[in-house]
Amino acid sequence: MIPRTLFDSDLEGFRDSVRKFLEKEAVPFHAQWEKDGQVDRDLWRKGGEMGFLCATAPEQYGGLGCDFRYSAVVMEEISRSGCSGIGWPLHSDIVMPYILNWGNEEQKQHYIPKLISGEMVGAIAMTEPGTGSDLQNVKTTAIKNGDHYVLNGSKTFITNGQHADLVIVVAKTNPKEAAKGISLFLVDANSEGFEKGTNLDKVGMKAQDTSELFFNDVKVPAENMLGADGMGFVALMQELPQERLLVGLTAVAACEAALEWTKTYVKDRKAFGKPIANFQNTRFKMAEMYAEVTAMRVFTDKCLELHLEKKLDIPTAAMLKQLTTDLQCKVMDECVQLHGGYGYMWEYPIARGWADSRVQKIYAGTNEIMKEIVARAIL
Ligand SMILES: Cc1cc2nc3c(=O)[nH]c(=O)nc-3n(C[C@H](O)[C@H](O)[C@H](O)COP(=O)(O)OP(=O)(O)OC[C@H]3O[C@@H](n4cnc5c(N)ncnc54)[C@H](O)[C@@H]3O)c2cc1C
Repeated sequence: MIPRTLFDSDLEGFRDSVRKFLEKEAVPFHAQWEKDGQVDRDLWRKGGEMGFLCATAPEQYGGLGCDFRYSAVVMEEISRSGCSGIGWPLHSDIVMPYILNWGNEEQKQHYIPKLISGEMVGAIAMTEPGTGSDLQNVKTTAIKNGDHYVLNGSKTFITNGQHADLVIVVAKTNPKEAAKGISLFLVDANSEGFEKGTNLDKVGMKAQDTSELFFNDVKVPAENMLGADGMGFVALMQELPQERLLVGLTAVAACEAALEWTKTYVKDRKAFGKPIANFQNTRFKMAEMYAEVTAMRVFTDKCLELHLEKKLDIPTAAMLKQLTTDLQCKVMDECVQLHGGYGYMWEYPIARGWADSRVQKIYAGTNEIMKEIVARAIL
């Protein structure tokens, strides 16, 4: 319908290679990975070899030095494929940029090449059992003791938690302070006192190793602080627009995939002697969803364009995250309905898409928090 203008032939070629890779290396195995609760670790190495991890990492650290459109292509194709267990977007476009934007030269040289190759898997641990939205209130502490910090606390719902070799941990270096007491640490998963807990049993995203993490007197070398002491909250606020754009891009790609699956299904399925695509309700529902997804695609691409120009502000990214994920959940639900009972069967991609979509309104800041951000900006 409305052609996308941000993606030239080079990017479409890149998209084609990501799509083919996923069709060969992920789609046939994903059902088993859902049973295993995690994707095969080797997929990370294979993705690294293809240049699909950390596409925006600069050449000096072994990256391709691409712009964010290449990342967008990777995350859109993962979303379209329904392989929701693959935690590359968080690794490539959340964890790596923290190191690139806030790390010192030594940290960049040590970690970024390993994230690009897939030798290391990255995670970021903000949420705790007692606090998610209220990030300023985290209870994990990192107390200075000579040449190291002593880390204590627990985190939950951490994406890539089982595979992670490197975790960016949000902790209080000054527990008496709120936002100003927060710092970030690069914590190696094999540190003594660092335990990976349960791989959580979720409603959807079943091949994603979302986990609990525990820190019991973990000695973190002082040089592993990421950014300056007390600057953790500022870093989080600055990095969150990209995370919310990422969620928006995956949400719209998932909507487009759901519409394609449903289009095929309603033309094929018959009731009362005719394809269900012939019923006015089906036609109107499909037309309404196409209109809404088309409008959302245009808005999302505009936000992507603003981000490429470094102009995507916090409230606009919040609007995008809220609108796209609300629409994703609505589209998935309507599409399940048009599939009838088959839409509720796990073997059908629309059933998985429906289950996978729900969390998009919850993580990366809940949609209620997104509305708070927007309201604060306009009122
Ligand atoms: C699959 C999955 C993956 C995740 N991955 C990660 C990860 O990699 N790293 C990480 O750190 N976290 C991760 N999270 C955690 C996620 O970011 C949090 O669940 C989310 O921020 C909400 O926090 P909470 O669960 O503590 O809910 P709460 O903060 O307790 O919120 C509960 C309800 O209260 C509402 N609420 C809270 N405060 C307000 C307010 N001020 N105004 C209005 N309503 C409010 C919320 O909107 C929500 O509806 C993940 C979660 C899931 C489910």
